[in-house]
Amino acid sequence: MIQKIKFIDARKSTFFATVRERVDAYFRENGISRHANGAMWAKTAFCLGGYGLLYGLIISNQFGPWTMLGLAVLLGVFSAFVGFNVSHDAIHGSFSGSKRVNHLLSHSFYLLGANPYVWSISHNIVHHTYTNIPHHDEDIEIAPGLVRVDPDEPVSKIQRYQHVYAFGLYALASLSWVLRKDYKKFFQARIGGHDTPHHPRIEYFNLFFYKALYYFLFIVLPMLVLDVAWWQVLIGFVATHLVEGLVIGLVFQLAHVVEGTHFPTPNAEGNLEESWAVHQLQTTANFSRRSALANFLCGGLNMQIEHHLFPKVCHIHYAAISEIVKQTAREHNLPYLENKTFFSALGSHYRLLKQLGHHAYHNNRRKGDRRPEERRPERPEAGDRRKGDRRRDTHTLTH
Ligand SMILES: [Zn+2]
Repeated sequence: MIQKIKFIDARKSTFFATVRERVDAYFRENGISRHANGAMWAKTAFCLGGYGLLYGLIISNQFGPWTMLGLAVLLGVFSAFVGFNVSHDAIHGSFSGSKRVNHLLSHSFYLLGANPYVWSISHNIVHHTYTNIPHHDEDIEIAPGLVRVDPDEPVSKIQRYQHVYAFGLYALASLSWVLRKDYKKFFQARIGGHDTPHHPRIEYFNLFFYKALYYFLFIVLPMLVLDVAWWQVLIGFVATHLVEGLVIGLVFQLAHVVEGTHFPTPNAEGNLEESWAVHQLQTTANFSRRSALANFLCGGLNMQIEHHLFPKVCHIHYAAISEIVKQTAREHNLPYLENKTFFSALGSHYRLLKQLGHHAYHNNRRKGDRRPEERRPERPEAGDRRKGDRRRDTHTLTH
């Protein structure tokens, strides 16, 4: 039975009140809207235009199979860009101050074969509230039984190699999303620890209609109009999604599953002793915060600290407010986890997977446990990434 978690804020932190006041003042004093500006609209045109252009080039039937495969791979990259930059903000309601504009732009998710309504529950409500809490945040359950990110879970033999095969599983995530995940989440009784709401009738229609439309546009229509075999169309479809899955998987994982991030377990009463905002700082990390390219392409998902604290602010403003957040976290003696570059974050993610798989397994064996797959690691080891042992694990992170 899953408990409802409460953040009880035992330390009575003033961090969030302070940072919110300062961020409010930034927008007010500079006369800036929290929503999309000209640069954001230009980026939206670039992402959606690039996506439409690539699809148009493929369906025009003017190219040979190898060129089309290249276009399909690029389409996968642009699918991720549309999701990061347009859909994610629109579904959060942060893209525009107008509900209608957000609603319209959230339809961009259908173009990717994904369902914005299901996402609004599993991401906006569950992931954003219960970030990194095992059995509650389904976003960290990448492939249950295969990838171990919760230090309190038993470690299995196969997980010795998770630092290698996890990346292949990320690549499969997008295929699973368009073919399986949305249906499963829509019909399951709970998402994480959250009761699935009573769905409006229109959402049943939206789920099946837009999925069918997507399969038609991206599988059936190409089979009808392109001068290639049906299996070549399927190769293109799979290639698009493998690339999209890998890009999405990596960007998501580098925000919550790197050295220094916590996976807190609620106490016996089902409470977390920190405030919600402090919890976000402990479970989330930025990367490439100063990279103009990462800021342009990642839709603010490289600055998830700011995103988790201010999900109603359009990501185009995250770089500007990140200094305020970092400074305030420092004043309150709280972590501000960040990797300077994408590759340093990737290295950190790889080491963490290895630590939680390979090292955890062999540590258990060294302790003389004959059946390591059934052993629950003890706290000091399980808490390698927790407070007691922070310094060792955060050497690659700046505070
Ligand atoms: Zn979000």
